[in-house]
Amino acid sequence: MRYKKTAIIFGITGQDGAYLSHFLLQKGYKVIGTTRDRSSKNLHRLERLNITKKITLLKGVATNLKFCEKILRRNINEIYYLAGDSSVVESFKTPEISLKSNTEGILNILQTLKQKKYKAKLFNAGSGQFYGDNKKNFYNIKSKIEPQSPYGVSKAAAYWLVKIYREKYNIYCCTGILFNHESPLRSKEFVTKKIIDTAIKIKKDRNVILRLGNVNIYRDWGWAPDYIKAIWLMMQRNKARDFIIGSGKTYTLKEFVNKVFGYLKISKKNLRTNVSKYKRKIDLRGYKANIVETQKVLKWKPSVKFNTIIYKMINNELF
Ligand code: NDP
Repeated sequence: MRYKKTAIIFGITGQDGAYLSHFLLQKGYKVIGTTRDRSSKNLHRLERLNITKKITLLKGVATNLKFCEKILRRNINEIYYLAGDSSVVESFKTPEISLKSNTEGILNILQTLKQKKYKAKLFNAGSGQFYGDNKKNFYNIKSKIEPQSPYGVSKAAAYWLVKIYREKYNIYCCTGILFNHESPLRSKEFVTKKIIDTAIKIKKDRNVILRLGNVNIYRDWGWAPDYIKAIWLMMQRNKARDFIIGSGKTYTLKEFVNKVFGYLKISKKNLRTNVSKYKRKIDLRGYKANIVETQKVLKWKPSVKFNTIIYKMINNELF
C-alpha cells in the first residue's frame, strides 16, 4: 500500500492519540504509535474506533533517548507528542512523573531531531493550565505563563523547549496550547466523565450519590475530534508557530452537572457538592481561550457546542 505520509504518535492509546490515529488513517497516512503497555486492556480506545489492526504499535517511551533515536530513524514526516501524565491532580502526588513524561520526553525528541538533522515536523501537546489564574482568565498566545501545578510547570517547560529549538535550530516544532476537550473516550479520572458515568448509575439505581468538590469553577470545554483537526492543521503549515486551541466559551461545573441531570431526568437529591475530599487545595477558578487568531490563521473553528458534547457523551454510554 502506498501511504501519503508517515506519522508517529507518542501516547497513541489516549483520548487524543486514538482520535488522531483515526483522522490520519482516513487521510491516507501510515500511523505508528508508542505505548508503555501493549496489552489489550490499554488499547480499548483504539478498539472502540476499530483501528488497532491498522496501526503499528511500538512499546516504549520518549523518556528513553535510545528508544527515540531508534524509532525516529524510520522515515517519519510528522511526530505528535501526546504522551505523558495528563492529570493535574496526579501531578501533585507524583510531580516527578509529570516533569519526566511531559518535559523530558519532548526534549529527547527535539535533541534527536537536532543531532540527526531529521526533517520531521513535531507537534507538542501544551495546556492552558500553564497560564495559571490571572484576573481575567481569558488567555491568548501572549498571555503570561504562570503555572500553579507541577503539571502546568511540566507543560510550560516543554513549551519553552519547543520554542527555543524552533528559533535556535530551525526545527519545525510547535505547541498547541490545548484547553479541556472531552469525548466518550475521555478517561474516567476526569471530572466530566465521572459526572456522566455516575449520573447514568443514578438513573438505574436511586441510591447512588454523585460527590463533587467546588462546582463554581469554570472551564473552556471543547470536542476532542475538533481539536485533532486543529492539531493537524498546525502541522500542515510552511512555517511552525504555536496556537491556542479552545472553544472560546466557558461554563461552570455546576452548569455541566445541571445539563447532565436535566438530560437524564434525575433528581438533585443524589448530588453532593463541596465535599471536602474532592476539593482541591489549589485549583484554577477558571479559564477561557481566546481563539480569534487561531480561527483566522488556521481557518478552523470548533463545530460541537457544549450541550451537544454532553449529549454525545451520555448517548454513547446509553446506546
Ligand atoms: P490521555 O491521558 O488520555 O493519554 C495520554 C497517554 O500518554 C496515555 O494513554 C498513556 O499511554 C501515555 N502516558 C500516560 N502517563 C505516561 C507517563 N508517565 N509516561 C509516558 N507516557 C504516559 O491524554 P489525552 O489524550 O487527553 O491528552 C493528550 C495530551 O494533551 C496530553 O499531553 C495532555 O496533557 C494534553 N492535554 C489534554 C487536554 C484534554 O482536555 N484532554 C487539555 C490540555 C492538554 P500508554 O499508557 O499507552 O503509555
